[in-house]
Amino acid sequence: MKINRYIYPQDDFLTDIVRDAMALFSIVSAGFAADQLSAVECLPQETVLVCNRLDADKQRVVTEVVFHGESGELESREEVSPAADLLELPEVNRLVRLNLLVLCREFTGRNPGPWGILRGVRPTKLVHKLMDKGLNAADACAQLEEKYALTAAKAGLITEIALRQRPFLLSATQAMNLISVYIAVPFCPSRCLYCSFPAQVLPEDNTILQAFMTTMQEDIKAARGLIDRYGLIVQTIYIGGGTPTSLPIAQFDQLLTMVAETFYGPETIEFTVEAGRPDSIDEHKIMAMRRAGVTRTSINPQTMQEKTLKLIGRSHTVQDIIVTLEKMRYFGIPIINMDIIVGLPGEGEREIADTLDQIAGLSPDNLTVHTLAVKKGSQLQENQDRFPLPHQDVATAMLDIAESSARGMGMEPYYLYRQKYMAGNLENVGYTSPGRECIYNIQIIEARQTILGVGPAAATKAVNGLDWRFTSCYHPKDLATYCKNIVTYLARRDELLARLFEAEV
Ligand code: SF4
Repeated sequence: MKINRYIYPQDDFLTDIVRDAMALFSIVSAGFAADQLSAVECLPQETVLVCNRLDADKQRVVTEVVFHGESGELESREEVSPAADLLELPEVNRLVRLNLLVLCREFTGRNPGPWGILRGVRPTKLVHKLMDKGLNAADACAQLEEKYALTAAKAGLITEIALRQRPFLLSATQAMNLISVYIAVPFCPSRCLYCSFPAQVLPEDNTILQAFMTTMQEDIKAARGLIDRYGLIVQTIYIGGGTPTSLPIAQFDQLLTMVAETFYGPETIEFTVEAGRPDSIDEHKIMAMRRAGVTRTSINPQTMQEKTLKLIGRSHTVQDIIVTLEKMRYFGIPIINMDIIVGLPGEGEREIADTLDQIAGLSPDNLTVHTLAVKKGSQLQENQDRFPLPHQDVATAMLDIAESSARGMGMEPYYLYRQKYMAGNLENVGYTSPGRECIYNIQIIEARQTILGVGPAAATKAVNGLDWRFTSCYHPKDLATYCKNIVTYLARRDELLARLFEAEV
């Protein structure tokens, strides 16, 4: 049934929760109704009235919806939650979401996907919370199905991932001194169809590049100052972007040397550089990475289908991917990741299966399977009519092919995150061969480690090990603003870390 909008009573204190739950079904708020009776009488077409109340014993949440049925007549439905401790607001919120999930499925006939009432980016965080409370894997899994309406497959997947991550999570004490450093390089050889990152094509004007390098140097030096001031230890370093390898060799080498000399310490166990695109990599850059002590890099084909590469704006071939990967191996990069995207325009199950067959032949150590997301500001979003997303069932089938193929390569899932506007409302999953996981990826997704951000658009996350809450600050996305106002942004980063570590000062 076509329902696009909802209204709610004026005194409803759960507006945010209702909005989130209705968003699963792409039903948006049309505001509140002054009084319920007239709202029912004057209910517009394609609109549903949503009312929540507690039952007489104050143990259950009762959700009622009113809408025009297929016959045009007004219909109402009611869902009563299981009994719970309703003194806790989060519990009320959860039950409202569950009630609305049941009701909206019924009256819209839509399926919002396998993640039940979860809408967050990091569903594994919930499993860690449950396990922190002492639940074992089976009980955590059961709760995800029962209390959050996940399918058994997704509950099993995130529980498996959380179990794999547990040994890498920091203790409260470690979290107060063991950090990671993220360095952002905002350049790319060209812009991909689906990209919304604040990356730009490498400027031809050398003065822009020089300003970037000078400002990065200042930023890196200031970050080192913070590490020294608070006695911090760098566990992992990650240079991402954009595509860091799109820097010319002189600047790339200079940046790697600066980063290695400044941050690499005796307890640093991982140094990743996102190489990404083969059209940005050559032997000189690979050797520069080896000299700097890089332990992990990536070559991200996204697809091994020639025609799709052209369509998404990549100026390289499948053969370039294979040759670059072989060079990385030849020069001894220890761990190589490959990224693919499920749901690229014109691709279905046959194409994804073929891409994965080709990747299996290359035996990467890590495989990251993204589901295509239509992000704001991407060319994909602007041209959605030309590039429709695959149907949910097709996207799900393709993701299943990717999972069984990764497992067939001897890999295991080790991190997972979700984004808005993903095909089929699905997820991104990182797979690894045993013992080859990227620890930075686990730390950033689970948000249990402070991350010091350097470079344009880099986020600094200050994580408090006592309650695992974090606060963030961001360098500006715009390169010119970053270079011009770096002092202001460094001061903000200083303040953020001072607030976290003030007890240690
Ligand atoms: S390589 Fe990545 S960051 Fe660069 S344009 Fe493509 S998607 Fe965006």
